Amino acid sequence: MLADKSTPFVGHVRVRFGAGIRHSIASEVASFGAKRVLILSTPAQSGIAADIAATLGSVAAGIFCKAAMHTPISVTLEALKHLEACKSDCLVAIGGGSTTGLGKALAYRTDLPQIVIPTTYAGSEATPILGQTEDGVKTTLNDPKVLPEVILYDPELVVSLPVDMTVTSGLNAMAHAAEALYAPNRSNSTNALAIRGLEAFVKGLPNVILEPEDITVREETLRGAWACGTVLGQVGMGLHHKLCHTLGGSFDLPHAPTHAIILPHAIAYNARSAAAELAPITTLLGGETSGVALYDFAKRLGAPLALRDLGLKEADLDRATVLATSKPYPNPHPVTAPDIRALLQAAWAGETPVF
Ligand code: NAD
Repeated sequence: MLADKSTPFVGHVRVRFGAGIRHSIASEVASFGAKRVLILSTPAQSGIAADIAATLGSVAAGIFCKAAMHTPISVTLEALKHLEACKSDCLVAIGGGSTTGLGKALAYRTDLPQIVIPTTYAGSEATPILGQTEDGVKTTLNDPKVLPEVILYDPELVVSLPVDMTVTSGLNAMAHAAEALYAPNRSNSTNALAIRGLEAFVKGLPNVILEPEDITVREETLRGAWACGTVLGQVGMGLHHKLCHTLGGSFDLPHAPTHAIILPHAIAYNARSAAAELAPITTLLGGETSGVALYDFAKRLGAPLALRDLGLKEADLDRATVLATSKPYPNPHPVTAPDIRALLQAAWAGETPVF
């Protein structure tokens, strides 16, 4: 039986939550009058892509299972050829941020409707943001055209997310909400959404570790992912996202673990100028400062703490500092090269935040 606790039409997006909600995919496709669906996934998730194709039956025109981290344009162009060969009129992306990114990249080029079935907490499905990589350079665009039309959050699909990925993906989502708290264009509603998202993970992640297969807890964390992703799409991000963008784009560090490691350090850095804005974090987590509270939370969850464990070399820290400080951007605390270098050193070694 479908547990359809819907939140229909948030903005222009139809958002549905519930165990088994993926099985309603055919009616969602039919709502667009679509007849030839292209299903997208990573290679590792080709099995669930095939399950969706089986559910869709003859409406499934093709499967493309080569989605990759940071949306390489070469993969998008290959998928585009597949899409044209299949004469597809609708996209279904099932997976994490990498698969969602591919769907958005295709929608950007074709304007086809997208249905996203997220299986991580990255939150990309709820934003009009598309990051794409070519020749090792990642560029980001913001266009309503890439916002999916339908999101189906099915907690049964997140049960398979390993605990370590659950933790880093959850911290990745929390990072969107944490930076939203001090965004220059924040509002009462974005603050409320950010706090809602943070709370879902502060309460949910320790429970998910204890009971990874608990559907109720998984659904609560998916609601957190939606809140964190939505707020990411509504306000500007600062230092934390800049640093992660640099480390992911230029040093090929994995997305969610990098966010998990940088978060306490970036928040501690900015708490010097935005302690009041960041107070919801200490209210939720306890502790005296938001950066240390996040560090202790990540440590309790068994999250990675050191960039060196992701393969970053100490010798890379100077170049990362230059890249992350080369262009000015809005941030509550002034961004200076010596301070960023000190932040990165602590994050590289896995130490408690220095600020
Ligand atoms: P991912 O999508 O790359 O997934 C990581 C791995 O986990 C993949 O192999 C995937 O197949 C597997 N996986 C996903 N869900 C699973 C599940 N339930 N069970 C088992 N395995 C599963 O990782 P991600 O962290 O979700 O996404 C990262 C990408 O998303 C990056 O490219 C990042 O830039 C992008 N992103 C974009 C936005 C945006 O608004 N544009 C926001 C957040 C992230």
